[in-house]
Amino acid sequence: MAFEGLSSRLQSVFSKLRGKGKVSEEDVSQAMREVRLALLEADVNFKVVKDFIAKVKEKSVGKEVMDSFTPGMVIIDIVNKELTELMGGSQAKLAKANKPPTVIMMVGLQGAGKTTTTGKLAKLLQKQNHRPLLVAGDIYRPAAIKQLQVLGEQINAPVFSLGDQTSPVEIARQGLQHAKDNGNDYVIVDTAGRLHVDEELMEELRQIHQVVNPDEVLLVVDAMTGQDAVNVAEHFNNQLQLTGVVLTKLDGDTRGGAALSVKAVTGCPIKFASLGEKLDALEPFHPERMASRILG
Ligand code: GDP
Repeated sequence: MAFEGLSSRLQSVFSKLRGKGKVSEEDVSQAMREVRLALLEADVNFKVVKDFIAKVKEKSVGKEVMDSFTPGMVIIDIVNKELTELMGGSQAKLAKANKPPTVIMMVGLQGAGKTTTTGKLAKLLQKQNHRPLLVAGDIYRPAAIKQLQVLGEQINAPVFSLGDQTSPVEIARQGLQHAKDNGNDYVIVDTAGRLHVDEELMEELRQIHQVVNPDEVLLVVDAMTGQDAVNVAEHFNNQLQLTGVVLTKLDGDTRGGAALSVKAVTGCPIKFASLGEKLDALEPFHPERMASRILG
């Protein structure tokens, strides 16, 4: 279950505070030391933790909090708000082109869940009565094209492919034209992932970007990889100007380090969360709901 480890750590810190009628500055300091440790153990970025604790502490030792009848509850509320802020504050919605089709480019390292997320996102859009076209631009991973075609069949969405002998840039260009010719209001371009970030991958992505001029560039990262996911996001963002992040495998992420750091480190909002392998396991990311989930 998502954030289980972090959640239980924080809950035990706050259950002590909640019981208190009066809270001293030392109580707050002690609680903050424990929260700091819990966040570091959850693999949250060191600097993010430092800033977070400083903010919560500053707000928590004020006179109004100390004099409140339920200071513990007020502090939990402050932590809740700051956690929400850390994850972007409010829900970051998917951009929409002024003139359809809206073009979404999916990028990420191999194995992060990019191809399955492409299918899941298409399904989510279909539920909102849109007609997405999937474009099979990952020609390097064996079976990636087939995988996308199978996903397309499952959700009854068209998949544009030119096999694996045409360049991804050309596939993207023709795919976009195909969408325009066929009245698809969304185009989701699946691109190649590599095992590591490399210059060749970035150059190809930049070329595809130039050709399709996307409204969204979504980076798919595996939440279970914690700070590695954040580093990947930082790198991609420097090279490509991401518009959003999709966190996958949150169902297996007990720690939450990527979810809590990626926005603060990269400035890029988390737009979707994937919580399972099934095709309907993708949801829009709601920072406030995630914060409440963490605090239990
Ligand atoms: P790609 O190489 O980035 O295109 O990765 P794939 O889309 O092929 O996904 C890699 C593996 O991760 C597959 O086995 C997916 O079923 C799995 N996967 C993707 N998203 C999730 C998720 O949110 N939760 C879980 N548990 N598995 C996922």
